[in-house]
Amino acid sequence: MAKDKEASKRYPLAAYNGGERTVVDVGGVAVGDGSFTVIAGPCAAEAGESLYKTAAAVRDVGASIFRAGTYKQRTSPYSFSGLGKDGLELLMKIKEMYGIPVVTELTSESRLKYYSGVDLIQIGARNMQNFDLLRAVGRQKKPVLLKRGFGCTVDELLLAAEYILSGGNDAVILCERGIRTFVGSSGATLDIAAVPYLKRITHLPVIVDPSHAAGSADLVAPLALAAAAAGADGIIIECHYNPSKAILDARQTITPDELREIVSKCAQIRKIIS
Ligand code: PEP
Ligand code: MN
Repeated sequence: MAKDKEASKRYPLAAYNGGERTVVDVGGVAVGDGSFTVIAGPCAAEAGESLYKTAAAVRDVGASIFRAGTYKQRTSPYSFSGLGKDGLELLMKIKEMYGIPVVTELTSESRLKYYSGVDLIQIGARNMQNFDLLRAVGRQKKPVLLKRGFGCTVDELLLAAEYILSGGNDAVILCERGIRTFVGSSGATLDIAAVPYLKRITHLPVIVDPSHAAGSADLVAPLALAAAAAGADGIIIECHYNPSKAILDARQTITPDELREIVSKCAQIRKIIS
């Protein structure tokens, strides 16, 4: 890992040099401006009333950006892999009805043309080192949420960000989502130290995904609070109006009431550390 003084050599565009930090505008919501951004929604966009109910619920409890996967990266080729274009259309309706910006994952450059209404393009953990895809989102102007690969170092995450920045897109948000270790108590191990480390080394906003790190709903709140305490610029959480009905990642999906409590406690923690 590069020493601080070497950071600007290794990450010429991402390194923090003591000046202004990057604030990313996600459809009118500022990320990295000193506020704590809450992004929430189901793992995957679902047909029917479900997505609308969840969008209304998460917005009402304090989320300012809505998440829902439309093209899902699945370990098994036989698993549900998202609603695809229909999911993107649903997200456009959510935007229109609830006035909330949306984030969804892009898995292939060939689909970028369908993402014109998406406010924040997510590059998932499994694609963090898909360099062609990184270059593709670097050539366009929409903000990018870059998730850390679960087998990748922080150095590799910063170099992945360089791919996007060097293409001319300076709107990048980094996301720590847990890495694979020998610890078996949760889905992954949240590398909480990565948050203050990244805040020191880069000017880019840093958020945390406690859901995929937790792998189970009861662990989401403590990890979310830890993220706020570590100085993260926000969190991205899997939430559903009725988690037992979530088609994907139900076991780590929390209720809107649980999200409300997280939002309120994170605000208190932010006051203590500011
Ligand atoms: C997700 O956000 O739904 C997701 C699949 O995340 P990750 O790429 O971090 O596993
Ligand atoms: Mn998920």
